[in-house]
Amino acid sequence: MAMFNLSSMSKPTQSAYDVVIVGAGPGGLSAALYAARARLKTLILERATEGGQITLTNVVEDYPGFDLITGQELADKFTEHARKFGTNFANEEVVEMDLTGEVKKIKTDLGNEYTSKVVIMATGSNPRKLGVPGEDEFANRGVSYCAVCDGSFFKDKRLVVVGGGDSAVEEAIYLSKIASEVTIVHRRDKLRAQKIVQERAFKIPNMKFVWNSIVTEIGGNNSVEYVTIKNVKSGELTKHPTSGVFIYIGLVPNSELVKDIVKTDEHGFILTNERMETNVKGVYAVGDVRKTVLRQVVTAAADGAIAAIDLGKYFD
Ligand code: NAP
Repeated sequence: MAMFNLSSMSKPTQSAYDVVIVGAGPGGLSAALYAARARLKTLILERATEGGQITLTNVVEDYPGFDLITGQELADKFTEHARKFGTNFANEEVVEMDLTGEVKKIKTDLGNEYTSKVVIMATGSNPRKLGVPGEDEFANRGVSYCAVCDGSFFKDKRLVVVGGGDSAVEEAIYLSKIASEVTIVHRRDKLRAQKIVQERAFKIPNMKFVWNSIVTEIGGNNSVEYVTIKNVKSGELTKHPTSGVFIYIGLVPNSELVKDIVKTDEHGFILTNERMETNVKGVYAVGDVRKTVLRQVVTAAADGAIAAIDLGKYFD
């Protein structure tokens, strides 16, 4: 029997909105909620999963009002809330944007073109890669950037986590409940993660730390069998047996689409003023893609609210 993909069969459409939001993470969903409540015709375009990066997080414990909630549950709540007040959603990837004129034009992978007076970039970020031999070769065969997605494959196995920030330590704690041993390899002798998270990690019996060290190679046969660890102080190389490597060494902003028109910093994070406006009139940026001092669900949500309230001035 022939299979039909309805979305690819349908004719490309042209639709006009007041506000188009690119990305359905906490920043985009919060902006959508506020914009929709202001009775603006609002569309969110999302290429992957509604909820963004938090759907890849096991538990969230620092979003006010929720002392313990899974990333997926919180993402679902954000999404339902935005939908309840009339946000339109489309599961489409933006491939081209013309943001220069009064009317912004947004083209997607389905051939649809949307226009709007205001665009909010809420495209978030992706995990940064280590860039060492074996990283690409062993992707999905022991190398992972998502403990919640892949952790269960490593029951009672030895694991390595690379990085010293909130993501590395929180996800290592999650993995320590599944694996027989988790070794955090960090390039300095102090973690960057929040103190409360560090305290918890230091108490876990099957959690080990290798300080002042980097992973220089990931090796094995059919799947990961070892990493080579280099002590950055002594230069000493050690072969460390492991079944998996989870890499959490920071974020790369998803600003490719607009980097030639919207100002960014040297790492590609979009520059905004305190109202989340970029240098281009009618274009805002919120959440992880923005240059900011803190990247949390609560700050992304706050960014979205500020942008959505400010953009009201285009519709007075
Ligand atoms: P991050 O805070 O930027 O930390 C990245 C870590 O990786 C740092 O420890 C850094 O070392 C290390 N690193 C960077 N490049 C490296 C390289 N090439 N080789 C080896 N190590 C390298 O990133 P993140 O942990 O992904 O967090 C991103 C943002 O999300 C942060 O603002 C974080 O606070 C936030 N976040 C919050 C929560 C929460 O509140 N529950 C959870 C997850 C993430 P140095 O320390 O030496 O720089």
